[in-house]
Amino acid sequence: MCLAAAAAARTYLRGVLGDGVNDVDVRADWRRRGGLCPRHWRVWRSLEAPALSSAVLLRDLLETELRRQLGGGAAPAAGGPQGFLRALAGRPRPRTPSPDERTAVLCRACEIERAAERRYLHALQRVPASDLEGALARGRGFVCVAHVATLPEGAGRALLTARLEALLTDLDTFLRRSDHRFAHEPMGESGDAWLRAIRAVGGDV
Ligand SMILES: [Zn+2]
Ligand SMILES: [Zn+2]
Repeated sequence: MCLAAAAAARTYLRGVLGDGVNDVDVRADWRRRGGLCPRHWRVWRSLEAPALSSAVLLRDLLETELRRQLGGGAAPAAGGPQGFLRALAGRPRPRTPSPDERTAVLCRACEIERAAERRYLHALQRVPASDLEGALARGRGFVCVAHVATLPEGAGRALLTARLEALLTDLDTFLRRSDHRFAHEPMGESGDAWLRAIRAVGGDV
């Protein structure tokens, strides 16, 4: 669930990194929003070959942020000395925004993530319990604690809760087998229990 929502945001960012960078509307949207939140900048950084597209996008965004947060006195763009001309002509500078206004970022990737999350949660609620049971039996998938907690009481929620509780058993197995006295026992499926547990508490790993 969390992973699927994060994947939706990543897909959006990959789109921007690809063709979106050349789309004037996308760039205008990012300028209005102030770019991304710190977490999604990290996702952006981790995408494949981000350098050139980042340079194009950031050339645009950084200039806007310099003007917006530091005022019209920021160095003029290579494309034209509009800032200087405005200063020389004695035009009034834009109103100085408050610190909150200056730093507020409306991350589009976060919005996409939240929308995907809502869609998946609605879809999950409509899955018949028997289908959910079958899916859980076939694999090791689970839904994180926080998202299970948003589900209404019922068979689906009970099944997903049981899956999370089984993860506790896997962690116990992992811990026991990590003890040198039991090191001869194969880790088996409990080997990545710690990783799954991080995801279960909402970690994006
Ligand atoms: Zn989740
Ligand atoms: Zn974000």
